[in-house]
Order: sequence, then C-alpha cells, then structure tokens
Amino acid sequence: MSLISENIQSVEERIRAACARAGRSRDEVTLICVTKTMPVEDLRQAYDAGQRSFGENRVQEINDKFPQLPSDIQWHMIGHLQRNKVKYLMDKAVMIHSVDSAALAQTISKEAVKAGRVMDILLEVNAAEEESKFGLTCADVLPLVREIAPLPGIHICGLMTVAPFTDDPETNRVFFRKLRDLSVDIGRESIDNVSMHILSMGMTGDFEVAIEEGATHIRVGTAIFGKRNYNI
Ligand SMILES: *Cc1c(COP(=O)(O)O)cnc(C)c1O
Repeated sequence: MSLISENIQSVEERIRAACARAGRSRDEVTLICVTKTMPVEDLRQAYDAGQRSFGENRVQEINDKFPQLPSDIQWHMIGHLQRNKVKYLMDKAVMIHSVDSAALAQTISKEAVKAGRVMDILLEVNAAEEESKFGLTCADVLPLVREIAPLPGIHICGLMTVAPFTDDPETNRVFFRKLRDLSVDIGRESIDNVSMHILSMGMTGDFEVAIEEGATHIRVGTAIFGKRNYNI
C-alpha cells in the first residue's frame, strides 16, 4: 500500500471517530483532498485509493492537472480567486469556496450564464477576523447574500472558513461554531436561491473539531500528501 493510501486510511479513521463522537453519520462529511503543489502522480494515488473530491487554490494548477486525470473527479476551487481567471473554471470546477465580494460573484454569474451552467458557490468568512486572511466579516455575510442571491448562474450553497493556524485545535472550536450559527441564521431568512446546507471548514490541524461542530466538507492536504514544498 502506498504512503498516500495509508494516510487516507488514517484520516478516514479519524473522520469516522469524530462523526461517532458527534452522533453524525459518516455520509454527512465530504473529504476534499487538497492537492495544491502536489504532482499528478500523487493525485492519481489518491484517486486509486478511492478519492474523488480534490481541492486546489490556483486556477493554473487545476488547468494543468485536469486534463491529466479521470473525468469523474470533482474539483473544488478553495483559494483566493481573481476575476479574470473565473472563466477557466467553468468547465472544470464543481464548486467555488472562496467568494468574498459582490464583484467576484457577478463575474462568476456572468461566466456561468455564458457557459450554460449553474456554479455552486460558498461565501468565505474570516471568522477569526485575522488581518492576513481573505474573507468576509460575519456582519458582511447576510447583506452580501441578499445582494447576490438574485444573480443567474450561481447557487449559494453555504459558507467556508479557514481558521487560524494553531497547535491546539480546540482554540478553533469557537470559530467553527460561529460559522455554523451564522449559517443557521442565514438559512432562517429563507432567501430565494440560497441554501445553507454546506459548511466547508476544518483542515489537517483541526478537521475533527470542525466535524464535531457541523462541517459538511473538510479540506485536508498535509495529513494526506505530507508537507508542501512551495519552492519547486
Ligand atoms: C492548503 C489549504 C487547505 C489544506 O491545508 P492542510 O493544513 O494542508 O490540510 C485547506 N483549505 C485551504 C483554503 C487551503 O488553502
């Protein structure tokens, strides 16, 4: 068995344990394998181990890897997105997790209509209000939802957050809870074209806590593929 498939198996065991602790079914949580900077061979190994949801944070990398891999992979765009690159995602991505402005939502809408599809999107929330991070403040989310919900070609499916880097995952529980509470509040508004069924939160350092707090999609890179080397 390859190291990557062993890593996936151990992540899978941790997901199951967290689901069990939270009284949730394993089916409620989608594992997105975060493959940024990783070579296609590594993605192939994850694919052969049964994984079908991959996350990338650069359009260029999705463009490069997409044609080299099987077509039943679901590609998730999880990184900060420039508006002039949106068009390249239309035939590749199933979901964009990182929408944080009306301007970006408008571009996605326009390109999706042009491509004859509907793009599922999440709004990225900077739940800990870290200066270094992209994302909306909690207070800005509902007004933006109301503003972009009527746009054609997009479907607002929920919220995403990147919690602070920490050695103690418990310190992020408060931010995951904040995201879940916000999603429940927005869901209660029953806005047309908005459903709040997706909570994309939890990474290598904190995905178990995120699952306990209601994550439906966790984005895990390092625990599966090892440390990233940004210099290659
Ligand atoms: C890189 C990245 C991840 C995965 O991080 P790990 O700590 O390696 O699991 C998750 N989400 C986003 C948005 C990322 O950029």
